[in-house]
Amino acid sequence: MPEIAGWFERGHFPRELAKELGGLGLLGMHLHGYGCAGTNAVSYGLACLELEAGDSGFRSFVSVQGSLAMFPIWKYGSEEQKRRWLPPMAAGEVVGCFGLTEPDFGSNPAGMRTSARRDGGDWLLSGTKMWITNGGIADLAVVWARSDQGVRGFLVPTDTPGFSTRDIDRKLSLRASVTSELVLDDCRLPDDAVLPQVSGMRGPLSCLDEARYGIVWGSMGAARACFASALQYATTRVQFDRPIGGFQLTQQKLADMLVELSKGTLLALHLGRMKDQGLLTPQQTSLGKLNNVREALQIARSARTILGANGVTLEYPVIRHANNLESVLTYEGTSEVHSLILGQALTGLNAFQ
Ligand SMILES: Cc1cc2nc3c(=O)[nH]c(=O)nc-3n(C[C@H](O)[C@H](O)[C@H](O)COP(=O)(O)OP(=O)(O)OC[C@H]3O[C@@H](n4cnc5c(N)ncnc54)[C@H](O)[C@@H]3O)c2cc1C
Repeated sequence: MPEIAGWFERGHFPRELAKELGGLGLLGMHLHGYGCAGTNAVSYGLACLELEAGDSGFRSFVSVQGSLAMFPIWKYGSEEQKRRWLPPMAAGEVVGCFGLTEPDFGSNPAGMRTSARRDGGDWLLSGTKMWITNGGIADLAVVWARSDQGVRGFLVPTDTPGFSTRDIDRKLSLRASVTSELVLDDCRLPDDAVLPQVSGMRGPLSCLDEARYGIVWGSMGAARACFASALQYATTRVQFDRPIGGFQLTQQKLADMLVELSKGTLLALHLGRMKDQGLLTPQQTSLGKLNNVREALQIARSARTILGANGVTLEYPVIRHANNLESVLTYEGTSEVHSLILGQALTGLNAFQ
């Protein structure tokens, strides 16, 4: 916490903390075996909440490593792939990333152009992935590519010839998180680089569902930090000879924030308990992600007003969280996409196309 404002300002993610996060058992925390902590879904959610109360960039790192890079190996990988990659990833020695989005295919990843074609017993991967968290610091990229067998997942060590990255520098959100473009220029991979147990969009979409679950919790952590900051400020900042928390309009804002924070946190807990019972559906996860990120952003904006001019500086965490939540609203399915998922579940009608 003492460092985060500076990291955000400098646009820096301290990669060395990966091992510390691993040492705490936070990487692949809800996966079982292969060096993972094997906790239940509620515990994983609580960890996401506490991490994101610090900064969404750290929860993003943990989500990508555990839910987007380790989960597909754990769920769809061969025994050999699991043994090779999962223990060092759980320890934070190997950093992973997840390459699905492309410059021209964000909300519609099924249109991807990245291709995997056979060359003798090998695979050749070509294409560009965009907006990839951890891309520039990753040792292993899980890349989704179109092949003659449909969309397949590939494990691409980042020192593979033809693989390169370029960090996206000028973003004003999630600054304490690395976001990169991945370029694959005829990357030659052995036959066993493919995840054997899945084909089609079911593979990447199931990973996103895992990561979204963490966001349902994490967003409430960011909201809690904003609420706490605004409450503290409201009781100490004096205007018109009394603390601004003594004005009814400020109390209205604080009460509304508390109500949504409580509802969202209880929703996360309820969905987490359902996940632990194996009952949680992707549509319910969408509902949680849509509501909690939207409300977290509203709480952050409302908290920002209570802090007045101080609310726009990095001396307080609020504007940092508000800016971060703009990315959280967009990634892992935009709020519009989650509305359409719910609309389809309600009506049986697909409004995506
Ligand atoms: C900081 C950050 C980190 C990210 N990390 C990763 C990562 O690690 N791996 C990865 O693969 N991707 C990652 N992403 C990409 C993210 O998942 C995409 O940005 C997201 O899917 C949206 O795609 P897009 O930005 O291309 O927007 P677009 O798909 O172009 O959408 C633009 C707007 O149009 C709306 N829209 C699109 N289609 C419809 C429709 N049918 N109906 C109504 N509205 C529609 C969207 O909701 C949005 O409001 C990251 C993004 C950010 C910002």
